[in-house]
Amino acid sequence: THFLDRIERAQPVLNAFITVDREKSLVQARAADARIAKGDVAPLTGIPVAHKDLFCAKGWRTTSGSKILSNFVSPYDAHVIEQFDRAGAVILGKANMDEFAMGSSCENSAYGCVRNPWDTNAVPGGSSGGSAAAVAARIAPAATATDTGGSIRQPASFTGVSGLRPTYGRVSRFGMVAFASSLDQAGCIAKSAEDLAMLLDVMASYDPRDSTCLDHPKDDYVGGLARGVKGLRIGLPKEYFTKDVARDVTDPILAAVEEYKKLGATVVDVSLPNQGLSVPVYYVLAPAEASSNLSRFDGVRYGHRAEKYTDLMDLYKKSRAEGFGPEVKRRIMIGTYVLSHGYYDAYYLQAQKIRRLIARDFTEAFAKCDVIMGPAAPTVAYDIGSKVTDPVQMYLDDLYTIPINLAGLPGMSIPCGFGNKGRPVGLQIVGNYFDEARMLAVAHAFQ
Ligand code: GLN
Repeated sequence: THFLDRIERAQPVLNAFITVDREKSLVQARAADARIAKGDVAPLTGIPVAHKDLFCAKGWRTTSGSKILSNFVSPYDAHVIEQFDRAGAVILGKANMDEFAMGSSCENSAYGCVRNPWDTNAVPGGSSGGSAAAVAARIAPAATATDTGGSIRQPASFTGVSGLRPTYGRVSRFGMVAFASSLDQAGCIAKSAEDLAMLLDVMASYDPRDSTCLDHPKDDYVGGLARGVKGLRIGLPKEYFTKDVARDVTDPILAAVEEYKKLGATVVDVSLPNQGLSVPVYYVLAPAEASSNLSRFDGVRYGHRAEKYTDLMDLYKKSRAEGFGPEVKRRIMIGTYVLSHGYYDAYYLQAQKIRRLIARDFTEAFAKCDVIMGPAAPTVAYDIGSKVTDPVQMYLDDLYTIPINLAGLPGMSIPCGFGNKGRPVGLQIVGNYFDEARMLAVAHAFQ
């Protein structure tokens, strides 16, 4: 009840949760107590975990931050939820998020915006802003989240907590409400790399129900934490330290790199020449995939259905018009446009080709270094409402996180200091494919 009580007190201010169900959580908690009494203890027995509200959890309302799913109670568990259940964890509640994970500030949630615990005038970042705010406010010890274009790393950076997006295919997407399937990946947010290592160990297991989930052996994430950074080669891309990023953000990041040097790491210059194309490429591909994924929300099978309609077409139109928020509608429009006949070659196909080039840049960089470091976001958290009128500016702010998703690489953000107005700054650590154990050890060495 400790965390449930804390949530109850914080909820009117932070709005970090969409659904909290005390009774349901307590049933699981009591079962965990009974297991402990019998000496039957799993790695996370009794540990409460907040889940981003796009993980289907049996018997729990799962909204994905959208009005269109406001009445959807999931009849089954996502793979991630099953894994946590097996490990003995307790579902603490469903965390708030941007609608269908589209956004960078949690202002696109149909359930109200989330506030940053460091400064309640500031956004917590997004789309996993509820997960990040809950961990930062210590109303949840750990949370799941997803990262399609930065939705774990950027809110972790804005709220001064640690977040890990694993390699694409490391964690099953089964039972996750889909946004852009070739970019979506489940991960976690917690206080420290040590906690993330425990969470990843639970989440990362092969699941044939997601055809892109890879049967790759797991490393000893927890056991490998203390291996240190002696001899580690840190790549600093020259494209990451330009006028696009604020000084109050680069200063703590470069100070962190100096710390790593003292701990025995060396720094090498690397270049990612096609990074500048990442944002336009992502904002073609992600909406294209989203427009296809979201076609299942038609008011017929599940979710919100308009009350008054004349025929089937009218039912579709009205249910979607009422159920989807403005950002989701914008993405569906962009997506259907770039996929339509005559524009497909000009936009979608071009974007796919550039995606290959962006991924190749990383392969070349990783020939020279073990991890890449840089900012997770170009600024610290901004004030609520200050960017809502300019969606393109919000898209452009994703420039440091999106390339990693396009390449399918793992990335982390860990707190490394404070910038303007005393708001937290995150250091982004990018690793090679399936190199999560090394990244966690690198993060741990700094913490
Ligand atoms: N901000 C990005 C977007 O709006 C990323 C979101 C995400 O990773 N889910 O699409």
